[in-house]
Amino acid sequence: MNLYKNDLPSSVVFKDSVAIDTETMGLITKRDRLCLVQMCSKDGEVHMVQIEKGQQHKAVNLRKMLEDSKILKIFHFARFDIEILNHTFGIRVNNIYCTKIASKLVRTYTDRHGLKNLVKEILGIEISKLEQSSDWGREELSDEQLKYAAGDVLYLHALKERLDYMLARENRTELAHRCFEALQLVSDLDLLGVCPEELFVH
Ligand code: MN
Repeated sequence: MNLYKNDLPSSVVFKDSVAIDTETMGLITKRDRLCLVQMCSKDGEVHMVQIEKGQQHKAVNLRKMLEDSKILKIFHFARFDIEILNHTFGIRVNNIYCTKIASKLVRTYTDRHGLKNLVKEILGIEISKLEQSSDWGREELSDEQLKYAAGDVLYLHALKERLDYMLARENRTELAHRCFEALQLVSDLDLLGVCPEELFVH
């Protein structure tokens, strides 16, 4: 596990795809700042960048990677992560995959689409969500926090593989991709303060 401050070192290069998660001070993007960005390469190496208050212009390498449309970014509930990343860095995260959307499109036999549920059902692994609500803004993160944070990106590639298989089996691959593309629009509406769901109800 590698931990950095402010930005990814230029030596860290992700080929084709990267799993990403974020930790923040809370769930309201304009109030609660971004504290940590966790990334996991396809071969299972975890890199984490601690974001300092008001440092958005320092993360040059991180921003470049997030905007690079050749690198697929795999999130679980991408909607939240891309909103905070777009807002914090003044960018647009490109080329997105969301394991929660994929799960909702194929695992229609359940309403349990949390990361913990997916990792348990698909990979047979128990993960803890205990550190989820902790002080991510502290300067020195605890070992428990770092372990938890890494756990949130460690399984996303494997989940994607299984969900891709299920999407193909149920002929919903294209539909999933159209949903992932719509995340840009959803994020823009979220940042504007317009509830996307509201636009489509009577
Ligand atoms: Mn997380």
